[in-house]
Amino acid sequence: MRAMVFPGPGRPLQLCEVPDPVPGSGEVLIEIEACGVCRTDLHIVDGELTEPMLPLIPGHEIVGRIRGFGPGERDDALRIGQRVGVPWLGHTCGCCSYCADARENLCDAPLFTGYTRDGGYADLTVADRSYVFPLSEQADPVALAPLMCAGLIGYRTYRLAGPGRRFGLYGFGAAAHILAQILLWQGAEVYAVTRDGDETAQALARDLGVTWVGGASEPPPVSLDAALIFAPVGALVPAALKVVRKGGRVVCGGIHMSDIPSFPYADLWEERQILSVANLTRADGLEFLPLAAQAGVQVHTTPYPLERANAALDDLRAGRLAGAAVLRP
Ligand SMILES: [Zn+2]
Ligand SMILES: [Zn+2]
Repeated sequence: MRAMVFPGPGRPLQLCEVPDPVPGSGEVLIEIEACGVCRTDLHIVDGELTEPMLPLIPGHEIVGRIRGFGPGERDDALRIGQRVGVPWLGHTCGCCSYCADARENLCDAPLFTGYTRDGGYADLTVADRSYVFPLSEQADPVALAPLMCAGLIGYRTYRLAGPGRRFGLYGFGAAAHILAQILLWQGAEVYAVTRDGDETAQALARDLGVTWVGGASEPPPVSLDAALIFAPVGALVPAALKVVRKGGRVVCGGIHMSDIPSFPYADLWEERQILSVANLTRADGLEFLPLAAQAGVQVHTTPYPLERANAALDDLRAGRLAGAAVLRP
C-alpha cells in the first residue's frame, strides 16, 4: 500500500510503498476513504510531542470500510464492508484503575492512533476493534473525518465545561466550528474569539451564525459561563479567566500549548476553574457521533490527495485553512 511516512522531527513526510498491514487478534483491517489532518499531527511532525513510534504513519481522524478481521472470537456487530471511524485513542489496557472506572481516556498504558501506532495517512490501516465507531453509510467520508478528533475532542471539552448558556470558543478552527454548530442547535450563545485580524476564521464563525465574533485582544462583551480554548496559546488561559463568571470554567482542549503566563490569584478566586481535556472515552464517541448527525453539523473541509500531506500540514501551520484539511487516498 501507499503511505505518507514520518521519518523523524524536522523532516517532511515521505510517500512510500510499504507492506499491507495485517490485523492481529482483536483488530480489524480498514480500507481508508479519508483521513483528517489534526493540529496534533503538526505537534508530532514539529517535534513538540516527543515520543512518536518511528518511522510512523500519522493520522487519527480515519474514515474507512472494514476489509478483514484478525483471528479470534468476535462479539460485536462489525461486518465486512461497514463504514467505521478510528479516533486518536487507539487501544487501552483494560485493567488499570482508569480503565476499570470507564475513564479509559486516562489509561496508564494506551496506544494512540498515528502517534504510538500507525494511523491513517495511507491506503489501509489496522485498528483495535474496541476503538472503531460505526459511521453513516450515506455521508461524505471527507466530511465525517474531522468528527473523529476535532469533533470528539471539542465535544468532550464542552462536556467538561459544566452547565451554562454562554460559551466562549477561543481559536475558531476545526474543533470550534463543529462544536459551535452543536451549541447553537441546542440554543446556547457562542462567542468566537480568533487571532486578531483572522478574517477567514471570523467569516466562518459569522457564517455559522454565532452570537459574537472578535479578535483575541478584544474580550467578549458579556461574562461567560465557560471558555473553551482550542488555540495552542497559553496566554489565552489568564485572558479567558478574566471573562468567565464566578464558578465558571476555562477548559483547555488541546494536547499541547505554549506556557501559561502567571496571573493574580484574584482572577481564579470565586471558584473559577482551569481544566485540561485528555483524549476521549468510547462513551464520548457513542454520544457525540449521533448528536452531530442529529444537529445536522456541516463540516467545512479542504480535501488534499494523500501524497500532498505535507502541503496540508503546511497550510494548517500557516493558518491558511478555514475548517479542516482532509487527505484522500
Ligand atoms: Zn488502562
Ligand atoms: Zn486530533
